[in-house]
Amino acid sequence: MLEEIRKEDIPSVGGKGASLGEMASIGLPVPKAFVVTAQAFRRFLIETGLENRLYSCFDGLDVEDSAALEEAAGKAMKLVLEAEMPERISEDILRAYHRLAPEPMIVAVRSSATAEDLPDASFAGQQETYLNIRGNEDLLEAVQKCWASLYGARAIYYRSKQGFDDRSVNIAVVVQQLVHSEKAGVMFTSHPVSGEPMTIIEGSWGLGEAVVSGAVTPDKYVFDRRTEKVVDRMIQQKKVEIVSDGSKGTRLVEVSPSRQMGTVLSDEEVTRLAKFGVIAESHYGVPQDVEWAIVGKELFILQSRPITTIATRPVPDTGSERRSEAKVLVKGTGASPGMASGRVVIIADAREIGVVKEGDILVTRMTNPDMVPAMRKVRAIVTDEGGLTCHAAIVSRELGTPAVVGTKTGSTELKTGQIVTVDGERGLVYEGEVTDEETSTAFADLTAAAMGAPLVTATSVKVNVSIPDAARRAAATGADGVGLLRIEHLMLGLGRTPSWFIKNGREEEFIAELYSGIKTVLDAFPDKPVWVRTIDAPTDEFRNMEGGEDEPEEHNPMLGWRGIRRDLMSPEQFRLQVETFRRLWSEGYDNLGVMFPLVSHPDEFLRAREMMAAAGVDVEKVTLGVMVEIPSAALIIEDFCKAGIRFASFGTNDLIQYTLAIDRNNQYLTQMYKPKHPAVLKLIDHAIGVCREYGVECSICGQAGSDPVMAEWLVEHGINSISANIDAVAKIRRAVARTEQRILLEAARRSHA
Ligand code: PEP
Ligand code: MG
Repeated sequence: MLEEIRKEDIPSVGGKGASLGEMASIGLPVPKAFVVTAQAFRRFLIETGLENRLYSCFDGLDVEDSAALEEAAGKAMKLVLEAEMPERISEDILRAYHRLAPEPMIVAVRSSATAEDLPDASFAGQQETYLNIRGNEDLLEAVQKCWASLYGARAIYYRSKQGFDDRSVNIAVVVQQLVHSEKAGVMFTSHPVSGEPMTIIEGSWGLGEAVVSGAVTPDKYVFDRRTEKVVDRMIQQKKVEIVSDGSKGTRLVEVSPSRQMGTVLSDEEVTRLAKFGVIAESHYGVPQDVEWAIVGKELFILQSRPITTIATRPVPDTGSERRSEAKVLVKGTGASPGMASGRVVIIADAREIGVVKEGDILVTRMTNPDMVPAMRKVRAIVTDEGGLTCHAAIVSRELGTPAVVGTKTGSTELKTGQIVTVDGERGLVYEGEVTDEETSTAFADLTAAAMGAPLVTATSVKVNVSIPDAARRAAATGADGVGLLRIEHLMLGLGRTPSWFIKNGREEEFIAELYSGIKTVLDAFPDKPVWVRTIDAPTDEFRNMEGGEDEPEEHNPMLGWRGIRRDLMSPEQFRLQVETFRRLWSEGYDNLGVMFPLVSHPDEFLRAREMMAAAGVDVEKVTLGVMVEIPSAALIIEDFCKAGIRFASFGTNDLIQYTLAIDRNNQYLTQMYKPKHPAVLKLIDHAIGVCREYGVECSICGQAGSDPVMAEWLVEHGINSISANIDAVAKIRRAVARTEQRILLEAARRSHA
């Protein structure tokens, strides 16, 4: 029963069941429920003797062969559906059912797949729900149907693609009082992308399934938690609603014309809902995606889980095409996962960002730091140039906005005003509005990180941050710290180059902006290390900002005046950064570490440290390190260790381009930009070995650290920490844990041999 369940019970009751138990325990108004556990399902398989017959359906199955897949799924589901449920199990279920209420209660029966190390969110999109179920027979039938759904073709395909063994997945079934809601919907307790304390509530008439499935465009209400006021209402035409259908199931009916434009929620209801949202968010420690329902004056909370992002919500089916049938307009590199549709707006440079509207698809040659305000507004981003490590890719991943980069012809082939769908996973832009047949997994991974029992790894798994707005999302991954905070992005709000502030005597303004951005990130990671990197922007990225006209024209800015070299030659620019750090350290932010980019010789480190000492920093006490981005730094890493670096972090984005002579942003050479090139690996291996000898923490913050295969290799070669993108933290943590366990296991086996 619900009262006995807590989040630790995820493996037996699934994410959904555990979350309901938790919610009831903190006083949220959750409808009555019980859970048929994963163990009950196992017992069913064992006692009916089904296990072996069931798994033999999948022996040698090629999931890409859709006919074979359908056949295997059909066979397996039939086995589960037709087996007679052992009496001991059915009696247990019915006993729990009758404890809910004296009369047979009308319930919703929902399945919730679980795997050993993952809550159900990772299997999103393949779970069955049976609504309006009443009476013993119908309940048992619905439970058995939920069990069978574990072997649906899509579920098998999806698991196989994610590398899960069908034998190790289980299923729990939640049986919950059906709330015959008059109105219902979903609530994001904080802004789903920026993490601001703005509660967003979507609601429509009837059962909540209409909103969740996308059958209706719901009303939207925005509640500002700081002022406790409803600050925005968007009333939509709600043409349909889902209602209970007599004694079983549900049906979709038309909403009477007089109610279609009616306001679903009063301000008082929005406020009450938002307050429950705050309770849920503060209990779980991360923003929540909540399902709610209202009957008369009674309000219910049906589900609460960490925000996975709006992008994963199914796009309404009306008029949209399926992905497999859609026309591809342009192709590029999938740089930030997720799918989004909208109106194309093409801009040539940042001066045109005024034309970009909320919800557009931004198409441009390449994004620039000063385009970030527009990038925040749009649903997706498409660029002609760039690879996985370009500006557009880095910023989109942090904003949680789907992006395709390096399309070569996006800004010439797409037309302003045209409706397209961007698939940031596969790197494709489709004509029109297209729905995905599968739910994106990237954000489910983020959820898994936040919700599952934390995996503890000996190798620290940290996260990269470039935009302070993303700090809360980054912290929600449970990362062990920030392995790279790129501060050049913090200055973008200013729209002016550092030199401009110096030239115009506005230094305090510059320091204040930098200070508040870094502090936001430090505050999101209390007691965890946050490595802040000094400014590293090539001169061309400054060009469009005020003061950019003074930036030198360089033949090759990537090989030019950037990183620590520029700071050493522009001591004033460096001094402003050091003053910001000094203030933070003096306020007790001991977790702040400072990292120098693009060093090629230990002298640069020593000179930077001296300049910090001269500015009043106690350099013996604070943590200072370097990025290893130039082969020279990797080759003579020993000299850096002797010079006193406390840590070194591989900036593979640059290390690869400087080792292989491949411009990282050149879309014509993407194929040749190889993170696992033997020369790159040799440099990394050498530097890790030397750092270990000197007891210097060795880390990685380049994009390669977000690749699980690379992470495995790095752990095998002795890296101390890995800093990944927000969307990759969960999968990197799993890869690290798996590798560490394998290493231990192999060592134990050897010692017993
Ligand atoms: C790198 O070079 O790998 C890195 C992390 O720095 P950036 O991408 O900002 O050059
Ligand atoms: Mg770099």
